[in-house]
Amino acid sequence: MLLYNSLTRQKEEFKPREAGRVSMYTCGPTVYHFAHIGNLRTYTMEDVLEKYLRYIGNDVKRVMNVTDVGHLTSDGDTGEDKMLKGARREHKTVMEIAKFYTDAFFRDCAELNIKTPDVVEPATNCIDDFIDMVKTLLDKGYAYEMGGNVYFDTSKLDKYYVFGDFSEEDLAVGVRESVEEDTNKRNKADFVLWFTKSKFEDQELKWDSPFGVGYPGWHIECSCIARRHLGEYLDIHCGGIDNAFPHHTNEIAQSESAFGHEWCNYWFHVSHLNTNSGKMSKSKGEFLTVSLLKEKGYAPLVYRFFCMQSHYRKNLVFSWENLDNARSAYDKLVARVAALKPLGKEPDAAAFAEGKRRFTDALDNDLNTSLAVTALYDVFKLPTDDDTKLALIRDFERVLDLGLIEAAEARRRADEKSEESSVDPELLAYINLQIEARRAAKADKNYAEADRIRAELLSRGITLIDTKDGTRFTLSE
Ligand code: AMP
Ligand code: ZN
Repeated sequence: MLLYNSLTRQKEEFKPREAGRVSMYTCGPTVYHFAHIGNLRTYTMEDVLEKYLRYIGNDVKRVMNVTDVGHLTSDGDTGEDKMLKGARREHKTVMEIAKFYTDAFFRDCAELNIKTPDVVEPATNCIDDFIDMVKTLLDKGYAYEMGGNVYFDTSKLDKYYVFGDFSEEDLAVGVRESVEEDTNKRNKADFVLWFTKSKFEDQELKWDSPFGVGYPGWHIECSCIARRHLGEYLDIHCGGIDNAFPHHTNEIAQSESAFGHEWCNYWFHVSHLNTNSGKMSKSKGEFLTVSLLKEKGYAPLVYRFFCMQSHYRKNLVFSWENLDNARSAYDKLVARVAALKPLGKEPDAAAFAEGKRRFTDALDNDLNTSLAVTALYDVFKLPTDDDTKLALIRDFERVLDLGLIEAAEARRRADEKSEESSVDPELLAYINLQIEARRAAKADKNYAEADRIRAELLSRGITLIDTKDGTRFTLSE
C-alpha cells in the first residue's frame, strides 16, 4: 500500500517494522465540549485507514489518548486549560466534564461506525509516565526549569521543524499567536513539559512532582501514552493537519530525545473540513455536531459517506447542500443493494477477484476512498450474478462500513410492509393461511403438499420467498 508520509512529503510503500503487525497511535479528543463534524472527519478517515490495514492482513494495535488536562486554548502554551474553561462554562468539575464529553465522543463515533481503538487512555491516568519522561529529558539536557515551569529546549535539536510542508514562518504561528510572550522560554519555539506556575492559579487538577506541584503540558501526554502501550517504536501516527505543528513536532522532539533514536516512521494527517466561511470551530457559527445532523433528519452514516467521497488530503467544504447530495446518493446506493436478489450461491471467483482488484487498487493508492466508492458502484455493472455482487459489497463494507447491508435490509422490510398493506385484505388473509398450511405440511414432512400449495399460489401470480425470518411473498403485476 502506498501512503503519503508527511515526514518525507511523498507517497511511500507502507511497511510496518514487523511484517503484518502495525502499531498505530491517534491523537484523541480534548473532552471539554462535543466533537464537531470536522474533528469527526479526521477520526472517520483514520478509521478507514485502520480497517484497510486490517483488511489487507495486518494485525493492528491502535492506541488513542483522551486529553483531559493540559491542552491550553492556544497551542503556543498560552491561554487557559480548555478543560477548565469547559468546567466553568457548565458549572461542573473538570472530571465531570471529562466523563460527560468522553462518553459523548464515543457515542458519536459509534453512530459513524468508527471503531473504538484497542486502547483508550485518559491523560490523567498517566501522570507518573509524564514525570518520568520529563525527568529523562532534564537528565539528558534537553529540558530546563525556568520560572517554575519545565521547558523543552528546541535549540538542542539538529532539526526541530520536521514537517517540511510548512514554511518556518507558518510554523511559528502557534508562537506568534501568544498574547503575552512567555519570557521564561530560551527560544521562541520552546514548549512547556510541566507547568507549576502560570497565570491561572486556579487549575483544578494538580499533581506533586520533583519539579513542583503542577500539571503536564499537552504534548508530553501523547509521547508517554504511545510509549506505555506501544513501546519505543511506532509504525504510524495520525491526526488532523493542524496537529502537525506544534503538537506532533513537539511529540517527535520529546520522544526522540528521550529514547535516543528515531520514533515513528509514518505520519498520516487528515486535511480540514471547512465551512464556506472558513475553518470549522466550536465557538463560531453553527456548532456542527452529529446530534445536529440527526436533528435535521440526516442519518449519521450519510456523513460518513460524504467523507468517503473525497480524498483525506484535500480540504473538504461542508454545506447542507453538499450533505443533501450525499444523502440522495447514499439512498440510491441503498436502493440498489436492496434490489439485488441473491440465490444463496457461492460467488463467482473470477468476477469477485476483478471487483476486489478495483477496490484495493483505489485504497492502495494513498487511501483513495472516492475511487473506492467508484469501485463500489462498479460492482453493479459487473457481468456477474447478484450473489457475487452482494459478496463484494459485504467485503468492501469491512472497510467503508457505510451500513449498506443493514440499510438495504431495512428498506426491503419497509417495502414489503407497504406492499402487504396495499394487498386486498381478503387476498392477504388467504395468502397467509396458505403460507401457514405450507409451513405445517413441511413440518409434517409432507413435501408434496407444500409444493402443491406453492404451485397453486404461483398460478395466481403469488410467488413465495423463504427467508431465515419466515416466508414472504411478492405479487406479479
Ligand atoms: P481536538 O479535540 O481539538 O484535540 O481535535 C481532535 C482532532 O480533530 C485532531 O486530530 C484535530 O487535528 C482534528 N481537527 C480539528 N479541527 C478539524 C477540522 N476542521 N477538520 C478536520 N479535523 C479537525
Ligand atoms: Zn497527540
